[in-house]
Order: sequence, then structure tokens, then C-alpha cells
Amino acid sequence: MENKKLHILVSACLLKDNCKYNGENNYNKEVYDFVKEHDYVKICPELMAELPVPRPKMEMKDGKLIRIDGKDLSDNMEIAISKLEKLIENEHFDLAILKSKSPSCGYKNIYDGTFSKKIVEGNGFACECLLRHNIKILTELDF
Ligand code: SF4
Repeated sequence: MENKKLHILVSACLLKDNCKYNGENNYNKEVYDFVKEHDYVKICPELMAELPVPRPKMEMKDGKLIRIDGKDLSDNMEIAISKLEKLIENEHFDLAILKSKSPSCGYKNIYDGTFSKKIVEGNGFACECLLRHNIKILTELDF
């Protein structure tokens, strides 16, 4: 796998884009060192959802994207999913490297929707979309 250039989708905050809810990033050098040897496309599903930076925290609850003040942002989530689907229908991606635990990017584990830092099994909405398209997922915790 290491000899062939992969086409990779990567959570933009892992590569130092300040798109995190609080206007910061989740830079991960190991992820950067890996993707720079390949072709990669950065995405931030929450920006694709037309949400601002900074923005209030949100979590997934019963398949809906809920802001900390209770507002249902599922319409925004659908906008992002539709953009993401167009992207992955137009370009083949071998792999996605996503930020763990995020309500959008998280893989296998996400916050439980109570804003109390409890983790449950589940995927963020963007991760779920990529899995439906059979894209292999890693997170920064795999590096
Ligand atoms: S939506 Fe994903 S890429 Fe955007 S800030 Fe959150 S974890 Fe990072």
C-alpha cells in the first residue's frame, strides 16, 4: 500500500485548518507526514454544512445533529452530506483519515448527545456517509 499514491480524504482540522468549533485546530503531525506522501483532499463537514467558525458545540443524538442549546441542525447536516456525496461520486478515494469522536467526523466512537463528555459507539454523519460508499476509514488515533 505504501508504494502506491493513495487518494485520501482528510479532516481539515488535523492538518491545521482552524475550522474546529472554537476556531482552533487538531493538528496531528503523524497524519500530516503520512498524507503529504499521497494525494489528499481536506474536508471539514461542518463548514460544508454552512456552519460558522467559531460555533457552539454540537453532538449527534438519535441520528440528528443537535446544537448545545437544543437547536436541531439536521438540515445543515443534510446539506453537508449531499456535498460530500457529490465529491465522492466524482472522485475515487482509497481512504479517509478523520478526527476521532467528532459528531461529524468521528469513527466508531462519538459523544453521546448529552454534552457530558460521555462516549458511545457510533459514527459522525460524514463518516457514516463515507462508510456507505465503502471508503476505508482511519482516525488520527491509528497513527
Ligand atoms: S467537522 Fe471534522 S474536520 Fe471539521 S472541525 Fe470538526 S472534526 Fe475537524
